[in-house]
Amino acid sequence: AISIRRVAKSYAQSPVVHGVDLEIEEREFVVILGPSGCGKSTLLRMIAGLEDITSGEIAIGDRVVNRLEPRERGCAMVFQNYALYPHMTVGQNIGYALKVAGVPKPERQRRVEAVAATVGLAEMLQRKPAALSGGQRQRVAMARAMIREPRIFLFDEPLSNLDAILRVGMRAEIRRLHRRLGTTSVFVTHDQVEAMTMADKLVVMRAGRIEQVGSPAQVYNRPATRFVAGFIGTPP
Ligand code: ATP
Ligand code: MG
Repeated sequence: AISIRRVAKSYAQSPVVHGVDLEIEEREFVVILGPSGCGKSTLLRMIAGLEDITSGEIAIGDRVVNRLEPRERGCAMVFQNYALYPHMTVGQNIGYALKVAGVPKPERQRRVEAVAATVGLAEMLQRKPAALSGGQRQRVAMARAMIREPRIFLFDEPLSNLDAILRVGMRAEIRRLHRRLGTTSVFVTHDQVEAMTMADKLVVMRAGRIEQVGSPAQVYNRPATRFVAGFIGTPP
């Protein structure tokens, strides 16, 4: 579980996240939805430890993680820009974190093959990223996050660069992986349909604040504010 308590963030005195409270349960798939600039990525990056928290605290399990390094938090992040290493093969990209951690080659190879099979890349391990489609690159990014066996997946608009059909397929695939691996997932998007179809719990943000938290059906049928109604598209 992740507990976000009165978490705020300012850049050079100007606040972008205002005292957010949010509880994320074990194995829950939480989607943070909101317009561009509302602070979604900033909140996610504070959970990951990529951004300092200005005030408040974040706990993972029963441990306050404010002062922990990213790698000590058990989170793996998947970004919109996959930033694969172009000179490395798919297999090397996936296994890179294990190599850095000093995992011996035979074990590394075994784990790379297992993870690649999970995301349907078993036949692609020798290719370079340039020879992959957008969806395949996205899977490499997933595999690279999965190989660290994270307790928590943090997704920052991972599907925005894909075409519409591929995007729909990948949504289902990410949900299946989430369930199969038993992880807790936090998924950021500004796409209403994506949010409604993927979320167990939907969090609607606006201008650095949470406007509403609920199941997609609750948020759709009983929007808490006019903003939520307008943004979700609830008929008046
Ligand atoms: P998008 O949907 O466009 O990705 P977002 O909801 O992820 O938007 P954030 O990236 O969290 O938004 O940014 C929230 C606010 O903080 C924005 O107004 C942004 O300009 C500002 N901001 C983000 N990073 C910095 C930074 N390093 N320095 C100053 N301001 C920043
Ligand atoms: Mg963002």
